[in-house]
Amino acid sequence: MAELNSLKNIVKEIVDEKRPVLEDIAKYLYDNPELGSEEFKAFAKITKVLEDHGFDVEKGVYDMPTAFVATYKGKGDGPKVAVLAEYDALPGVGHGCGHDLIAASAVGAGIAASKAIADLDGEILVIGTPAEEGHGPSGGSKVIMANKGLFDDISGVVMLHPASAWGVGSQALGISKCNMVFKGQTSHAAASPHLGRNALNAATLAYTATHMLRQEARRDANLVIHGIITEGGIANNIIPDRAVLSFGVRSSDQEYLDEMVDKVARCGEGAAHALGVEVEIDKGRFYSSKKLNYPMIKALWQNYVDLGAPVSDWEESANSIPMASTDYGDVSQVVPSAGSYIGIAPAGTPGHSIQLADASMTKKGLDAMIVGTKALGMTLVELLAKPEILVEAKEYFDSH
Ligand SMILES: [Zn+2]
Ligand SMILES: [Zn+2]
Repeated sequence: MAELNSLKNIVKEIVDEKRPVLEDIAKYLYDNPELGSEEFKAFAKITKVLEDHGFDVEKGVYDMPTAFVATYKGKGDGPKVAVLAEYDALPGVGHGCGHDLIAASAVGAGIAASKAIADLDGEILVIGTPAEEGHGPSGGSKVIMANKGLFDDISGVVMLHPASAWGVGSQALGISKCNMVFKGQTSHAAASPHLGRNALNAATLAYTATHMLRQEARRDANLVIHGIITEGGIANNIIPDRAVLSFGVRSSDQEYLDEMVDKVARCGEGAAHALGVEVEIDKGRFYSSKKLNYPMIKALWQNYVDLGAPVSDWEESANSIPMASTDYGDVSQVVPSAGSYIGIAPAGTPGHSIQLADASMTKKGLDAMIVGTKALGMTLVELLAKPEILVEAKEYFDSH
């Protein structure tokens, strides 16, 4: 254990030593915000720093020009552990989601960990995941990476996200779509209604039926259903032959979410059957919920605690009501993962705001980034130094 502590001390020292480099990355991204799939400046900056520090960088993975996988090998063959970088900005509010600090922290954690694994087996990976906010062809790149198997031979993944409070291991809502197109028959609404088949009535019935599902919703699964009618006819004297509903369905439990999307679809099928119209249903996952991995979360949380970060108890985070959805959820569904939040802004600061972007450049924001970088780097090293944590994490993953 004494040896692990000295390796963690190396991580801390390197992060402090590299602080100017990390702050430079964050500031460069803040000054040059780029939308998802177009993060070419950020991509060039980040990959150059990693190459300069001895990482082997594969660029443009899976035909996503701003995605990358940077690898640093330890002494011999062993487990691969990864930290994820995001670097896309938002229209109008720049780095209002704080991805400038996510990029800096991932680079810093990877570099610091790489300096501590000369005598350990395994590999440290820094994975560049563009377009978390969903913009452009690389939108939700982690979903693409997870589906294509990028994480299949990786044993553990960590990352952080800026926020207005500290925490490790919180849930995220999975989100799926369920869109319904109802098709009937137009007819004169007064002269010959008996010759029509009203698509709008079917859509209304489906909309109402969907809301009736809520009463039976599992209360621990954080179900959210939000829907709109996007088409409902063209003139009130014509019975509508076409109506379209668009639903988003969210839950913190992926299996339950899939089940509920099927039930929402059934409301559409039932309504169509009742009113004698046709319906086409387009359903599918957008982002998955987070599959929490307690062994990974505990390891990351303990390192934050040891650094004196004001993280809330991890069990409290794990049980708090999730608000957002992220493509990191899809990563957590295929590999043991842990996420964390660093407090860079006063409580109550809205996400996706100029205020949060500006907070990333304050001393408080940059100090928080440094603490988070250390926690991530220490955890990467710990996972290679104590691979039994990865074994436990895999067992937990397989049994939950
Ligand atoms: Zn965001
Ligand atoms: Zn974000």
